[in-house]
Order: sequence, then C-alpha cells, then structure tokens
Amino acid sequence: MQTILWGLFILWINAKTFFTLGVVLQINQQHYLEPVARRESPFFNQRPSDEISLLVIHCISLPEGQYGLPYIDDLFCGRLDCLADPSFADLQSLEVSAHLFIDRLGKVTQYVPFNLRAWHAGVSCFAGREGCNDFSIGIELEGCDTQAYSDAQYQTLSEVSQVLLKRYPLLNKQRIVAHSDIAPSRKTDPGPLFDWPRYLASL
Ligand SMILES: [Zn+2]
Repeated sequence: MQTILWGLFILWINAKTFFTLGVVLQINQQHYLEPVARRESPFFNQRPSDEISLLVIHCISLPEGQYGLPYIDDLFCGRLDCLADPSFADLQSLEVSAHLFIDRLGKVTQYVPFNLRAWHAGVSCFAGREGCNDFSIGIELEGCDTQAYSDAQYQTLSEVSQVLLKRYPLLNKQRIVAHSDIAPSRKTDPGPLFDWPRYLASL
C-alpha cells in the first residue's frame, strides 16, 4: 500500500512539472539538464572540489535591452564579433560563460555542465568566501536592470531551481543570491526589477 501511495505521489509530482513546463526536467549523470538545448562554451575549468553550494542569478542582454539576438550565445561560445555593435568594444577577449541561460520566452540553454566551473561570477565573495565560481552555479536571465522579467522566465527559473535544489543538496533558498550580492562594487544584476519574493515563494 505504501509503495502504491509513493508511486502516486511521484506521478503527481511529475504531472505537476509536466503541466507547468510541458516537460519533466532532470539532471543526468553528466550534470546536464535534460531536455534542454545544449551548447559548448570553451570558458570553463575544473572546480577545486565537488562542492556546489551557491546559486547565482544574473542578467545579460546584448546589446543591452535588446532581446532574441544571437550575440549572447556568440559571447559564451567565444565567437562574438565585437564589431557587430559599438557597445561590444568592451567585450573584446572577454572570457565568460554561465551554466544556464534563460531567454525572454523561458527557453533554457546549458553551456557548461554543473560539475564544472563556469566563469560567471568574477571577483566575488559570499559569506566571507572569495571566488564564488568555485562552488556556485550561474544562471543568466536575458534581461537588463531596467526592465521587468517575463512570466515565462520566472516559470522556467523556478522549475530549473527546484531541480537543482533537489539534485545538489548543499543548495537551499538561503544560498541563492544576486550577482550584485556577491560583487556589490562591480555588479548590479539582475537588478531591482527582479522579483525575489515571487521567485523564492515559487520554490
Ligand atoms: Zn552577472
């Protein structure tokens, strides 16, 4: 009887995920989220240990405030044409990546498997500990500090975060931060319009 109840519970959880996202997200043995789009960034290396204990929320748009363009993908894959827009001049030879990118429609792309170190946080400090890339997962939302995020982005971010929290037990709600929290003198993302109460309540 207990097994049947447990089975029904699992079915209910999966159905709930299916009907919200349309798919059941899971993280495979190679630390990739499935089923989501996957791209290979050259900008990663080994973590110093297995620890994954912080989730960092960012935003990015290229050019700033413009969406749906290929430039973020180009940047993370190391092939951005810095002449494509005058604002890209600063990005020359910048080597950055994130584990996940969520576009305005809520579509996820993974650039680095979670067990490897993506280069998203830069010089950073959480609870007295520097080098947050070592022990964090970075999620970039397509956006900028002056525009609200889309419902689809909140929905996807919530679903993805729930899967991450389940898979990596050192993560919890108290260990989800803004990039601006861990690099306050350099960074402002994801900005004041990111609705933290809404996001955290959805987890
Ligand atoms: Zn950032």
